[in-house]
Order: sequence, then structure tokens, then C-alpha cells
Amino acid sequence: MRATARLFSQVSKAASPRAHTTAFIGLGRMGSEMAYNLFSRTLVESDGNSHFVVCDAVVDAARAFSDNLTAQFPGANIQVVETPAEAAALSSTIVTMLPSSPHVRQVYSESYGIIPALLSLSPDGQRSTLCIDSTTLDVQVAREIAAEVHKSGATMVDAPVSGGVAGAKAATLSFLVGGTEDAFQRTSPILAHMGKKIIHCGPSGAGLGAKICNNLILGVQQIVVAEAMLLGQKLGLDPAVLAGVINSSTGACWASSVNNPVPGALATSPPCTRDYEGGFATSLMLKDMGLATEIADAYSTPLPMGEAAENMYADVVTQVPELAKRDFSSVYRYLQLSAERKQVA
Ligand code: NAD
Repeated sequence: MRATARLFSQVSKAASPRAHTTAFIGLGRMGSEMAYNLFSRTLVESDGNSHFVVCDAVVDAARAFSDNLTAQFPGANIQVVETPAEAAALSSTIVTMLPSSPHVRQVYSESYGIIPALLSLSPDGQRSTLCIDSTTLDVQVAREIAAEVHKSGATMVDAPVSGGVAGAKAATLSFLVGGTEDAFQRTSPILAHMGKKIIHCGPSGAGLGAKICNNLILGVQQIVVAEAMLLGQKLGLDPAVLAGVINSSTGACWASSVNNPVPGALATSPPCTRDYEGGFATSLMLKDMGLATEIADAYSTPLPMGEAAENMYADVVTQVPELAKRDFSSVYRYLQLSAERKQVA
């Protein structure tokens, strides 16, 4: 069946439960954990009277998610769809968790996207629809898309997250929400299924502004922690002793106390203990540094440390491409390799 025909047949089939249906689009490292918590908790809360729709550019990722949910909750009513338009036609709550701006534009604005589907709904259907985008993307792009969604009669908030994959899994994320007070009140109970702190940062785009400022600090700190840990070892310090000193002194920060880049420095198991697998990809941190420097440029705000950090992450992914998908604390590995090269030269 052609996609449009399938879309309309599903709209009519699902007309009554749309109000009880939640869609999740983007089931990657973060999205799959968040959707699992959202769906499983919504199921329990609604006493089984809820429907779910999942969509991912990699259809097998959506199928695997659906299979896993039904294995855990045999009665769960979950449907895999191939386009965001189908998801929007079937669901009154739509959560998106995508890599960045181009993907969000594609999912919302292009043909087979959410906005064209919203425009084909009844005024009631449009008014009842809530879009929550948790992607970290460009503030201006997010504001433009939210304005388009609002024009259709639906509501949208930006709700990027802090807390990483571990926070997504444990449902302890912090959500930084941008939107009207009404939209925030409507969104909070949904986000509470996936996170612990839900902060209303201001109007549309404010959640992203807060997220980008936070990640600017994080990206810079992770580099300087890697520099200090490498230098300390060259000076003969044991990494566990050095990390203990930093973490109980004025250099203490998340990059050192939770995401320390040196195996054995902490008693816990940060990504460096798994060869930097999992965690927050270096390529995503590079993207976030770019978001910070671009918006700073647009607002004539100097960002010398942010620019230096952006260049450093760009060097990591171009010079050691296998680190692009590894946790961004692998910048330490990059510095180690640079030090080895210096010694040889
Ligand atoms: P990811 O790359 O693992 O997941 C993104 C998913 O979106 C993938 O499954 C991909 O197939 C899907 N996708 C891409 N384009 C699509 C499209 N057009 N239609 C449908 N699906 C599409 O990324 P992630 O690590 O889950 O991160 C998602 C977002 O969360 C990013 O903006 C990132 O900056 C932010 N974030 C990530 C972390 C982290 O620790 N990973 C922490 C905080 C915030």
C-alpha cells in the first residue's frame, strides 16, 4: 500500500484512540531508554488503556524496541510506523529525540513529516496535539519549527535533556523546557515519567538556550580534566590519587568525578573503562560546541574557550575517526596519542 493510502486508513482506524496514543520518534541511545520508561509507566498509570507508536529512520530499531516492550508487557498496544506523518496522524502526544537540526526539520517540516499531517487533522485534533522535542538543536531552528506547529493549532515545547544515557535509563533526566506556561503544565506529567527535574526555562527556545550553555561548560571541562590527568601522570602521580585530590578540591566537576577519562581513576565504571563505548558521542559534543559558537556569534558574545574546545573536538573526530562515536571523554586518548607523537618526533 502506498504511504498516503496507509496513512489515511490508519487515521480512520485509529480515530477514537488518538487521544490515548503517544508516539516516540527517534529510538537511538537516549530515545530508546526514554520511550521505554514513558510507555511502561504510562501503561501502568492508565491501567493498560493506552496506545503507542514508534518510528525511527532505521525501521529495525523501531521493530526491536516494539518487540522488547511487548516481551516485557505482553498486552501492550504498540505499532511501528515508517513516517513521522503516520505517527502524528495516530497520536495526540508526540515526543521526538533526534540527532540535530537537519533531522528535526526533516521530521517536522518535510512531506511525510509531522506538520503536514497536523494540517490534515480536524481543528479538535490539531488543538489536542502536543509535540515535545528533546533533541539538542539550534535555538533559531527550534523556534521556527515551534512557530509552524503553533500555526497548525497544536502545541510544542523544546525539552532538551541533561543526564546522559544512564539518566535516560534510570528515568532521572533533567528536562529544560521552553514554551508557554500552559504548555509547560501540560508537558510536565509526561516528562515526569522519564526524568526527575523538570525546569521551565522560559518561552520557546529557552530550554535549548540553557542546554547549550550547560554543554559549553561541560565540553570545555572534559578537555581540561583530560589535560590535567595526563599531565599529572607524566609527573608521576597515580591517576586514582590525582582524581581523589581533584574531586575533593576546587577542580571538582562532573567531568572528573563521574566521567573521569582515565581507567582506574574512579572506583565506578565510566565509559573509559569500556574503551569509551556508550556515553555521549564525541561527534554530538562537537555538534553542541558548534551550536554554542554559532549562537554566540549571532549574539556577538565572545566564546574563546568554546571556540578552542570546538576546534579540539573537530581535531579528535578528523584525526582519530574511531573516536567520533565513542564517549567525548576519549579526548584524553587523543591527547595521549598527541603526546606519543611528540615523544617520537
Ligand atoms: P542517536 O544518534 O543514538 O539517536 C538518534 C536516533 O534518531 C537514531 O536512532 C536515528 O536513526 C534516529 N533518526 C535520525 N533521523 C531520523 C529521522 N529523519 N526520522 C526518524 N528517526 C531518525 O543519538 P542520542 O545519543 O540518542 O542523542 C539524541 C539527542 O539527545 C541529540 O540531540 C543529543 O545531542 C542529545 N543528548 C544526548 C545525550 C547522550 O548522552 N547520548 C545526552 C544528552 C542529550
